[in-house]
Amino acid sequence: MKPVIYWVRRDLRLADNAALNAVLASGRPVIPVFINDALIDGLGAAAKFRFGEGLRVFATTLGVLGSQLVLRRGDALEVLRQLISETGAEAVYWNRLYDPAAKARDTEVKSNLKSIGIEARSFAGHLLFEPWTVETKTGGFYKVFTPMWKAVRSRDVASPVPAPSNVPAPAVFPDSDDLADWAMGAAMKRGANVLAPHMRVGEAAAQDRLAEFIEHKAANYPTDRDHPSVDGTSGLSENLTYGEISPATCWHAGWAAIHRGVSGAEVFCKELVWREFAYHLMHHTPHILDSNWKTGWDSFPWNTQDTPEVIAWKQGRTGVPFVDAAMRQMYVTGIMHNRGRMIVASYLTKHLMTHWRIGQAWFEDCLIDWDPASNAMGWQWAAGSGPDASPFFRIFNPVTQLSKFDPKGKYAPSWIAEGQGDPSATSLSYYDAIPLAWGLSQDDAYPEPVVGLAEGRARALDAYQARTA
Ligand SMILES: Cc1cc2nc3c(=O)[nH]c(=O)nc-3n(C[C@H](O)[C@H](O)[C@H](O)COP(=O)(O)OP(=O)(O)OC[C@H]3O[C@@H](n4cnc5c(N)ncnc54)[C@H](O)[C@@H]3O)c2cc1C
Repeated sequence: MKPVIYWVRRDLRLADNAALNAVLASGRPVIPVFINDALIDGLGAAAKFRFGEGLRVFATTLGVLGSQLVLRRGDALEVLRQLISETGAEAVYWNRLYDPAAKARDTEVKSNLKSIGIEARSFAGHLLFEPWTVETKTGGFYKVFTPMWKAVRSRDVASPVPAPSNVPAPAVFPDSDDLADWAMGAAMKRGANVLAPHMRVGEAAAQDRLAEFIEHKAANYPTDRDHPSVDGTSGLSENLTYGEISPATCWHAGWAAIHRGVSGAEVFCKELVWREFAYHLMHHTPHILDSNWKTGWDSFPWNTQDTPEVIAWKQGRTGVPFVDAAMRQMYVTGIMHNRGRMIVASYLTKHLMTHWRIGQAWFEDCLIDWDPASNAMGWQWAAGSGPDASPFFRIFNPVTQLSKFDPKGKYAPSWIAEGQGDPSATSLSYYDAIPLAWGLSQDDAYPEPVVGLAEGRARALDAYQARTA
């Protein structure tokens, strides 16, 4: 039988993988292929590094089942056509992505392959609900989260399909690049070694994470999730973004816990729907990725330069402990607590009156859980320019927020070494992660605030009022 190419993208898993299951159901040999094209090459430093580690683990997982991950670099359509001619494959299957660049690429690939008689099929699996299947009563899309949550909360989501025990191989696998030659961690420089121990890579790690969360954290999740020094969330964003676990698997685990009386798991399911909401918005209004969702913000006098204050923000040196701790946490671990994300985004866009796109781009470079839809929605939410956004006049005070959500004062010292007699290991690891060119040392004095909180707040509110007057 002629083989089928399974085009691997953000679906580095065997379980609940619709495209892979469809090939297996056909009984034909499978050639799993990952293509390092412009969209992969253009990823931020941390995301690209993390993607490479995910590929390494997935290749091993496939190898255990007698299969092989074929790696090729180049334009996706050209690579696929080349592989079809090398292998005689008669079909290409993949799981869908939803950002405009991937959609444009995939549409071109599908129509071109069909035009040469190749069966080209795409499948759902990166989301719980295909964005076009969720509609308001009047037939539009949701612009506010809560009604969308109410609309999908009780929907049936197909049960996850277990991992196959066998992935039939072709008689011969085509040649593959060597993953090491792609050097996907190169842009991380010395930061890669610091970040690596904080990652939990691969499908087995993701499944363990989900099980640990449901067993130990879900009950207290509604309150713990807000406390940045408490390990109270699932940590699954890192795995969901590379598809190492399906959202349906998380959803079903959440609902099973709710049915066992763990009511806190409902908030977890609700958060999964925030991810869906972000995708829903990106599908219906793709400009959310690069322009103010509410065009009324186009005239707002944002700073768009890397000013000394913005550089201090990037380096975790604003002199505001919540902001600096969160920025350093991201630099060291590739992850930032959700409350930290809200605080640093509010501080950049309001106290520093800097365009949300500068923060969005910095997150894109530093996060291992970078997700185009959630990142854009999060930034526009914080800035006030997005749908269902935090109003601009609601300006988080990072000092009161820290004392409210970290009453024992643990979070800042775990990431800020300056001024501490016995700095924590995590705070010191920041100095091993950052570029030497930043010239920072733990012996530096902790900086004075780059802008007074009251002054920054007043300046932002004045600009806001001038805009709306
Ligand atoms: C400015 C800003 C930028 C953000 N950028 C990203 C990003 O690039 N990638 C990303 O995955 N999330 C992003 N988020 C959302 C959120 O901060 C993370 O999803 C969350 O911190 C991940 O931790 P967790 O997996 O432990 O989440 P949990 O609390 O365990 O939640 C479970 C899952 O629900 C989803 N989720 C939770 N909160 C949100 C949310 N606010 N928006 C969308 N989905 C959510 C995630 O998939 C998460 O893994 C951003 C938020 C803000 C305010």
